[in-house]
Amino acid sequence: MTDVTATQRTNWAGNLTYRAAALERPSSVAAVQELVASTPRLTALGSTHSFNDIADTEAVQVTLTDLPPVLEIDTARRVVRVAAGMTHAQVAAGLEARGWALGNLASLPHISTAGAVATGTHGSGVRNPSLAQAVVGLDVVRADGSLVRVAPDGSGSGSDSGTGSGSAGDLDAHRVALGALGVVTAVELAIEPSFQVATTVHLDLPWDAVLEHFDAVMADAYSVSMFTAFDDRGARQVWTKHRMDEPAPSMDLVALGARRATGPVHPGENDTAGVTEQGGVPGPWSERLPHFRSSFSPSTGAEIQAEYLVPAASAVAAIQALLPLHDLFAPILIAAEFRTVAPDTAWLAPSSERQSVGLHFTFRRDVSAVAAAVEQIEGVLAPFDPRPHWGKVSAASPSRLHEAYPHLAAFAALARELDPTGRFRNPFLERMLS
Ligand SMILES: Cc1cc2nc3c(=O)[nH]c(=O)nc-3n(C[C@H](O)[C@H](O)[C@H](O)COP(=O)(O)OP(=O)(O)OC[C@H]3O[C@@H](n4cnc5c(N)ncnc54)[C@H](O)[C@@H]3O)c2cc1C
Repeated sequence: MTDVTATQRTNWAGNLTYRAAALERPSSVAAVQELVASTPRLTALGSTHSFNDIADTEAVQVTLTDLPPVLEIDTARRVVRVAAGMTHAQVAAGLEARGWALGNLASLPHISTAGAVATGTHGSGVRNPSLAQAVVGLDVVRADGSLVRVAPDGSGSGSDSGTGSGSAGDLDAHRVALGALGVVTAVELAIEPSFQVATTVHLDLPWDAVLEHFDAVMADAYSVSMFTAFDDRGARQVWTKHRMDEPAPSMDLVALGARRATGPVHPGENDTAGVTEQGGVPGPWSERLPHFRSSFSPSTGAEIQAEYLVPAASAVAAIQALLPLHDLFAPILIAAEFRTVAPDTAWLAPSSERQSVGLHFTFRRDVSAVAAAVEQIEGVLAPFDPRPHWGKVSAASPSRLHEAYPHLAAFAALARELDPTGRFRNPFLERMLS
């Protein structure tokens, strides 16, 4: 389980000091139920990797890191049931050891399962939706302390380990729930047989090739990421993650002006010891789909991330519109990353109901400079209907979010219905669901 100690009062990046008066650490689902039922205001905390106050509150935070690390595989249904606080790394290692896999993973294996699902966290791949889309069931402790299972057919039922009968809930509403609909104690995820992946990196793909061949390059392998500083190196790294049971990539990036990397590279400024193996060496999905090894911290944490998902059809125009911001980016941008995300059915996924491209920015931890940059980025991206990532910084107003997320009003109504006294409300939700 993630180590979230009571004395650690900042998020992972250190750009946010939690205001929570207390951090509770129940060690059983029953204890979570009792805690929820007896606490007027509380917010679930995952692995602290969000960059905004989504997981903060002035009242009580609750971490599930002390719950037993459940990992049960139902081979007939092709589903794994995991304790919500387990990290991607723990889940991936447990699955791989038994010959199973998740379809995709975020770049960082240290993130908790429930926290990733709650914000629509995603990896890359034109056919790969976010982790939330792999959810086929959730155990949720509701505001009254009852434990319900939210299932795909829209039926909620009392969990076999729970006490309450629970109310019905739409899984698509619950997939990306921002902590607003209850405390998730277990997550069921669709799995498939394990597969092998080989990562090859090319350097310095010129801008004209990026812009002309963007869709083809991004679709050329199971999972492709482009990194850039928006400078004259173009896409300074293109990571092509080829799934070995699929046809080999066909794009010749060298012919388009790139160079094949001759050794490992880091997308940011850190030691390459922390990145997953490159050089076209096949390995298990669990050790290739994340960019970073679970045994290393990917960076010092002194960074702030922002990300916007735009419709895939607008991605090239959006990237072109960002290019003139180079001078603004130069002092503060560590790396930007472009990824593709397949459509989700989740109401609040940033990739909900549209093929998307994520335009991601990792900035140095200069809070005021990043805030100014984010405003400019959002101004430039406005014509492309950007949806901000829920776990990263954004300047978007609630009204802008309602435009970007058409289901947000229905979600807010559901949150009021399921949590009439606002037990799970925190300042972030007060702003977003207003
Ligand atoms: C270095 C780094 C790399 C990243 N890479 C990616 C990436 O590749 N792709 C991407 O999309 N994002 C990425 N992110 C963002 C990250 O995935 C999200 O911010 C994610 O939500 C963090 O999960 P967490 O467990 O830390 O949750 P927290 O930040 O602790 O919480 C996030 C939300 O989840 C809710 N939550 C947590 N646990 C529960 C629970 N048990 N029940 C109900 N709600 C719960 C919280 O209440 C809150 O609303 C990255 C972040 C970092 C720091």
